[in-house]
Amino acid sequence: RGNFVPPIRNNGGSATINSRITGKNDDSMEDSTKKCLEMLCGPDGELPEKLRNLEPRLIEHISNEIMDKDPKVHWDDIAGLHHAKKCVTEMVIWPLLRPDIFRGCRSPGRGLLLFGPPGTGKTMIGKAIAGEAKATFFYISASSLTSKWIGEGEKLVRALFGVACCRQPAVIFVDEIDSLLSQRKSDGEHESSRRLKTQFLIEMEGFDSGSEQILLIGATNRPQELDEAARRRLTKRLYIPLPSSEARTWIIRNLLEKDGLFKLSEEETGAICKLTEGYSGSDMKNLVNDASMGPLREALQQGIEITKLNKEDVRPVMLKDFEAALQEVRPSVSASELGIYEDWNKQFGSLS
Ligand code: ADP
Repeated sequence: RGNFVPPIRNNGGSATINSRITGKNDDSMEDSTKKCLEMLCGPDGELPEKLRNLEPRLIEHISNEIMDKDPKVHWDDIAGLHHAKKCVTEMVIWPLLRPDIFRGCRSPGRGLLLFGPPGTGKTMIGKAIAGEAKATFFYISASSLTSKWIGEGEKLVRALFGVACCRQPAVIFVDEIDSLLSQRKSDGEHESSRRLKTQFLIEMEGFDSGSEQILLIGATNRPQELDEAARRRLTKRLYIPLPSSEARTWIIRNLLEKDGLFKLSEEETGAICKLTEGYSGSDMKNLVNDASMGPLREALQQGIEITKLNKEDVRPVMLKDFEAALQEVRPSVSASELGIYEDWNKQFGSLS
């Protein structure tokens, strides 16, 4: 009887939260946890049904570490990838913005797979989708579920989908989804990872049939490792390739212009683009960072002390800085890897 919770509303006060979650007035709950739960309560001060049986500390972890209410990436920040942007706008952004129109025949798939080499903008696309669709963004790396959350992954997955349900529209971005939904296991598959995978598929199935505005985006550099069940649920599969020459030019210009350092001529940027065939977006970013150190290194070599260096006296970034940086920053994707993505795209990708 000591655990009896009287059915009296008290505007979501902390005592009520405690009793609702733990079944008793337990004051050991951290203030930060209480605050986080209070923020998830509905207008009636009640914690939504879906969250009641979840562990408060996991809800707190999802809210504080995994949820991003304001992902600051826009389409304009992403170079190239016009095909992916167009598909994604039609397939996921419009339906998230106008669920009333996108129903029945027009109802969208709830799962999107972005595959391709690392550092090509998959995470950026996920964040931009959430930004454009005014949705809450949840980012989780599947490998952290299997490594950091050993034995607790299932509970965390339930908490993730539970909190996302209360924060609709929501975009759940699962990085390295292959490590969760991979096919190579069967006999040797660890019991806990099998349970985790099952839980994940159950959660996906759950929101697929309902009217929830939740989109699941899986990203992977190893699409060939996904099993058939995963492919079936991730109905749209978009190849995110290495940046084209125009996209590489755009990245160089955009990054340097932000800092007021862009003074290269068209021929010079053209020359850099020729030399960076095969570089990913993230390689390009590293290259620009390294090249922009060139003028500083030169000034310091001439004996000027860093503390006495006048910002205005530092020369702009030049072609020679890029040539030097190219020796340091090498492309991270090999040509043979690209062949694998292209083959998989032909077989399973959404080509139009
Ligand atoms: P992925 O998720 O594909 O591994 P990310 O989206 O995390 O790659 O990209 C890593 C970084 O590389 C980004 O923060 C950005 O600076 C740069 N980058 C990658 N692709 C692009 C792109 N298409 N346009 C602009 N920047 C990019």
